[in-house]
Amino acid sequence: MKLATVEIQGQKRVGLVSQDEKTINLIEAADMLDVIARWDALGSKLSASGAGLPLGEVKLLAPIPLPRRNIICVGKNYRDHAKEFAQSGFEAGAVAGAEIDTHPAVFSKPPSTVIGPDAVVDTHPGVTDSIDYEVELALVIGRGGKNIKAADAFSHIFGYTIVNDVTARDRQKNHKQWFLGKALDTFCPMGPWITTADEVDAENLDVKTWVNGELRQNANTRDLIFTIPSLIETISAGMTLEPGDIIATGTPSGVGIGFKPPKFLKSGDVVKLSISGLGELTNRFE
Ligand code: MG
Repeated sequence: MKLATVEIQGQKRVGLVSQDEKTINLIEAADMLDVIARWDALGSKLSASGAGLPLGEVKLLAPIPLPRRNIICVGKNYRDHAKEFAQSGFEAGAVAGAEIDTHPAVFSKPPSTVIGPDAVVDTHPGVTDSIDYEVELALVIGRGGKNIKAADAFSHIFGYTIVNDVTARDRQKNHKQWFLGKALDTFCPMGPWITTADEVDAENLDVKTWVNGELRQNANTRDLIFTIPSLIETISAGMTLEPGDIIATGTPSGVGIGFKPPKFLKSGDVVKLSISGLGELTNRFE
């Protein structure tokens, strides 16, 4: 199933998107976190049949518009991207020959970064002049837990969505850690909805980015260095994951700093992301 958060006449509502992605049937729920919390009882009762509202008549928001906690993000999780990042000059402390990490790099983005489909990403003039895009498969945790074993990891995943881990490369480099470069307001476009885990094989999804119609990133999640189960095992070790937590799994090669000279985003650029089975996410930068 595909579950979206939408705005209708100023009200936030949650709904079930039809298989043809043309209509939405609203669900009686406080918000997406409420749906996730009650899913075991609620999920089997939902149906996308019947007269839904045309999706074109509602405004899609991020599926979880204001996460309870920071979005947890994994860096350098595709080999070609790890290499392009190390060679770009924008990775503080990069060591030639040691581009591939032995343990995943994990950082976070605050909830205030999250925006929805078609919302505008602020280019923050005066704060950064090197904005980059990163398409990423994001997991949404359904059942919380601590010290989750890799073998059990998939049973903790509610569903999947697309995230753009927008990054200010100058701040990422200059501050020698990633938070400031990743944390600017509007720097986490998310959506267009959550596809429940039963509908996709998350370890075999095509992941793509277009900038102004030009294909820049084109990979598959089977090439993740640290797999989804291993990431959940690592991240939940000693840290309780909560229902509704979001984990972005890293971006493949083809980001702006992979080009010489780098192709940074500028005002007016339109970035479209797609992941097979999860839909498309488009945002303009301004
Ligand atoms: Mg990233």
